[in-house]
Amino acid sequence: MEEESPNHLLNERARRADKIVRNPEKYKICAGCESIIAVKVSICPNCHAYRFMTERNMVIVQAQQLANREPRSVAFRDMD
Ligand SMILES: [Zn+2]
Repeated sequence: MEEESPNHLLNERARRADKIVRNPEKYKICAGCESIIAVKVSICPNCHAYRFMTERNMVIVQAQQLANREPRSVAFRDMD
C-alpha cells in the first residue's frame, strides 16, 4: 500500500473522505489515535482503543482534515 504513487493515494483519500462526509453516521473517530473507522467496529484496528467520538460534525471535520493532510498514518485503513 505504501508503494503506490502519491497522486493515487491522494485520490483514494479524497474519495474515501467524500464517502465519509456523505455518510457520517456510519463512522466514528477513535479517541486514541483519531482514526476514522466504521461505527460497527468495537476496537480500533490501529491502536486498539475502545473509546470513540461519534458526533457527525466531528466525523465530517476529521474526514476533511485527513483528506487534506499529508499521509502520515493508517487512519483510512481497515475501514471497510
Ligand atoms: Zn485508534
